[in-house]
Amino acid sequence: MVNFPEREKPSVAIPFVPLQVSSLNLHLLLDLSPDALVIVDQAGMIVMVNEQVETVFGYTHAELVGQPLECLLPHQFRQAHIAHREHYFHTPRTRPMGMGLHLLGQRKDGTEVPVEISLRPVYLDGVSHAIGAIRDVTPQRLAEQERLHQLQRIRQQTELINRAHDAILVLDPTSHIISWNQGAEHLYGWTSSEVNGLVSYDLLRTRFPLGRAALTTLLEQEGQWEGELTHTCRDGRPVVVESRQLLVRDEVGAPQAVLEIDRDITERLELERRKDEFIGMAGHELKTPVTSIKTYVQVLQERLSIAGDEASATVLAKVDTQLTTLTHLINELLDVTKMTTGILSWQEEQFDLEILLQEVVEDLQQTTARHQICRRGTGHVHISADRERIGQVLANLLSNAIKYTPQGGTITLGFEVEEQRVQLRVQDCGIGIPIESQPYIFDRFFRASSQEHETFPGLGLGLYLAAEIIKRLEGKIWVESQPGAGSTFFVTLPLQGEGAGEKGERQ
Ligand code: ADP
Repeated sequence: MVNFPEREKPSVAIPFVPLQVSSLNLHLLLDLSPDALVIVDQAGMIVMVNEQVETVFGYTHAELVGQPLECLLPHQFRQAHIAHREHYFHTPRTRPMGMGLHLLGQRKDGTEVPVEISLRPVYLDGVSHAIGAIRDVTPQRLAEQERLHQLQRIRQQTELINRAHDAILVLDPTSHIISWNQGAEHLYGWTSSEVNGLVSYDLLRTRFPLGRAALTTLLEQEGQWEGELTHTCRDGRPVVVESRQLLVRDEVGAPQAVLEIDRDITERLELERRKDEFIGMAGHELKTPVTSIKTYVQVLQERLSIAGDEASATVLAKVDTQLTTLTHLINELLDVTKMTTGILSWQEEQFDLEILLQEVVEDLQQTTARHQICRRGTGHVHISADRERIGQVLANLLSNAIKYTPQGGTITLGFEVEEQRVQLRVQDCGIGIPIESQPYIFDRFFRASSQEHETFPGLGLGLYLAAEIIKRLEGKIWVESQPGAGSTFFVTLPLQGEGAGEKGERQ
């Protein structure tokens, strides 16, 4: 049979004790074997086979007896095998099965079959022969191939993990490091062998946003956690990472490991900080001259009116409107930088929400003749919060409703008091928001990218500011919108503090 060179191993030498058998009832014995058995004479001719040979090779007993043994081999190996066989009869020895030789046989239909063979010299009726036991090992070979493929896949995945720029850590349930990829070596400065078995948060002097215990609880409850962590590198440098952690459980649900993927965002945060700083500076530099120009324009407008030059006064009124828009944009920029640096001022006061709504509606109604702003819901709701900021949010929602309803129409500002909160609603019948943009509408600098939307001016900051303010007030903001049919923005605010129920009463 055929030896595959890569797996060939030296044969195990077993002392040669020739078996003495008689051909008389031998076939009865041979048929008992689960392996295919072939007896060949010294010329390599088959003298006897058992029934299993037919199962493995497809030949009948009669077809094989008298044929050279090589007819059971693939063509390309037959010639070499003749020499191999002759050599065997000169130095007969027993070669057992399962010694790792990869052999191939060929069936009657020409297909090849992986086999394992053991050979043994035998004296049949006093004449030297050899008996070969042949086992079809197709299932074993398939299983081995599958195992090799799996190994290959694992090697590729390990390589991928190692090549990732992110730091990838595997921790045991008590945060001891089990695995640490090259990304982690590169980011934190320790090699994998140096950190194996150490407690990750001690090594990295981790600063947790909510505390370590809170993170562990969240991880146990949710099975995963995402957020920012600050780690300290080997050289003492702090790095801020966007960390994703996944709890791996065993078959009975007990925590088995934590998979942690850390992406270094230190540089990105620094760039954002510098960008905010620049926007803040630019905003300040722009605001002063624009405020002066606005004052001069108003003075001039008044003088022209007094002088009876209404045409020029009307032109200046338009300049004034544009300056108002410009001032609004600059204020948004300044607010955003103040918001991100945490210096946006807050003033809590108790006020009547209905009066605020009335004021905001009146202010915004003055900016448009084509829209009618209607209020729905009446009653005095006293809440304790930053009146100016809530006014800013409502003014922004209403000015958006006006801006994105270019054909004009009715805009509704409604409010309802629910148990412990008040819900406000700004509804328009404008161009609506594309479905794919809706999840990002409150992101900083986000503007819907449809052709229609791009024709309107704006920086994509108003809703971001509104959402940040509402978050700060522990409320919620969201949108429901149908492209082409209009949008409704909802805001809920808690009626906090003692006597909230009383404050929340509609009187
Ligand atoms: P902008 O200054 O661009 O209006 P906002 O943050 O206020 O910025 O709004 C973000 C984006 O959301 C806008 O660019 C616009 O595409 C969309 N949008 C906001 N309000 C409406 C609305 N009422 N109708 C349609 N689209 C809206």
